[in-house]
Amino acid sequence: MNAGEPAECPECGEEAVHRPATDLVPWEAHGMARPAWSHRDGSSLCPVAGPSGGFQPAQPQPRIADRGPARLRVIRPQAAPERDREAGA
Ligand SMILES: [Zn+2]
Repeated sequence: MNAGEPAECPECGEEAVHRPATDLVPWEAHGMARPAWSHRDGSSLCPVAGPSGGFQPAQPQPRIADRGPARLRVIRPQAAPERDREAGA
């Protein structure tokens, strides 16, 4: 994420701003640097499960300005044709 680009918190969809979070969390005690991104109210982005199993603030994602239906991406569930073929044989 670049500081100049519009971003949002991927968890709540609120705008994310490139400004260090101001909430009173002892980030260093959790082995984390103070998040560089925060919600507009200064709170850190919503917590998500981190690689070590603990929680960490979400990473901002680019805000897509145009959310019109034409650009909506449909995610199809993965089909399993092999399984069907085995069942028939
Ligand atoms: Zn959030």
